[in-house]
This record gives sequence, C-alpha cells and structure tokens, in this order.
Amino acid sequence: MKSPIVAAIVALLASPVPAAEGPSESPTVPRPAIVSASEWGSKPQPIADARKQTPKYVTIHHAGVLWEAKVAPVVFVRNMQSWGQKEKGWPDLPYHFLIAPDGTIFEGRPPSYEPESNTKYPLSGNIGVEMMGDFGRQRPDPRQIASCVKLTAWLCHHYRLDPAQVRGHKDAAPGLTDCPGKDFDRYLKNGQLRRWVEEMLAGNAPAIDPGPPLPDGPTKPIPATVPVN
Ligand SMILES: [Zn+2]
Repeated sequence: MKSPIVAAIVALLASPVPAAEGPSESPTVPRPAIVSASEWGSKPQPIADARKQTPKYVTIHHAGVLWEAKVAPVVFVRNMQSWGQKEKGWPDLPYHFLIAPDGTIFEGRPPSYEPESNTKYPLSGNIGVEMMGDFGRQRPDPRQIASCVKLTAWLCHHYRLDPAQVRGHKDAAPGLTDCPGKDFDRYLKNGQLRRWVEEMLAGNAPAIDPGPPLPDGPTKPIPATVPVN
C-alpha cells in the first residue's frame, strides 16, 4: 500500500519539475525529474558563506552500504541528513544529489555550496552525486545508471562542464577510498559513462546497457525498492 508521500513522489515523477533558472538551458538536455528538497521534507541548516563554490567537477559516489531495501529511499535520505547533522555537524546532506535503486533522484544540498566528505580531498568545486548501494558487493540497477547519466549530462550542460570533469570519488581522493565501488567504477575507467553523457549532450537518448558482471566483481543486482515509510 502506498503512503501519501510515496504517492506524491510518484505523481511528481510523472510530471517533470520545470527547469530551474541557471547559467545554461537547452531543450536538447532536459533537466531530469528530481524530488526537490522541500518535497522530501528536508530540514537543512544554514551553510557558511565561506563554503560557497563554483562547480567544476561532477564526482560520483556510492553509499558504500549494502542496499537491502529495508527502508524507502526517501527515508534513507532523511536519515542521512539528520545523522550528518547530529553526528558530523554537517548542516545539510553531504551530497548534492542522491539516486535510489529505482532511478528516483533526490535533491541534496545546493550545488552552490561545497560538499562534505569523510575522506580528505579538496572539496571545493565538486558536485557530489551519490547512488544508494554498495557496488563492491552488488550491481547497480540499470534505472539507477540511466538516472546517473541523465543527471550528469544535465549538470555538465547546466554548469558548462566538460564530460572529462566527471570522475569517481576514488579519482578525486586516490588511495583513500574505493568509492563508487568496482562495478560502477568500470564505467568511469573504460570511458562508458563519458560516452553515454556525450550522447545525451548531443541530443540523443543512448541505450544504457550495464553489460555483464565483472569477472572479479559482484553478480547480485541491487534489490528493488520497498515503498515503506
Ligand atoms: Zn564517495
């Protein structure tokens, strides 16, 4: 049975949110449907002006926590915000966007502010895109990959970033993390993510084929989302 919040999100996904005002818009790279911070019940605290940034990179993450579909993604997002505020002193979500296994994209902190991280690397300039799951132990859902491609293409277009500026957390913080996990990192290493993004930027709709499991990688797909609150 669907709760009101899930029904609201489903309704929102059916009607894309209008594009925000920004540096660049094009009908060829539409803004994907995004559950806005107010729609999911975000309770951000003010972020210091000293942490303002100009976006230069799209930096891809996985949660690094096995997704077992025990909570709804919207609950996962709310929990991460309140955990970060209480335990880490982070005023808002550490990431700018979060993507559920079913491809739903949630708005995190505003990209005009640098992200947070548990690893030490220069934070300024990064737009953090996080996918729920642990891609060292489970494979991303094709819908999750497709949303990552659409969002990344739109971010590249909107902020005028070269697709070469799309990277994994491990590329930004070498030796400190294996994020976003080997089963997603392959698309960064072999240039597939960049090719998908370039196709989107060219106005095409690339077929997103995740390919077979890696010989030494996870084989289990991430479980389907359970819509509970
Ligand atoms: Zn990461």
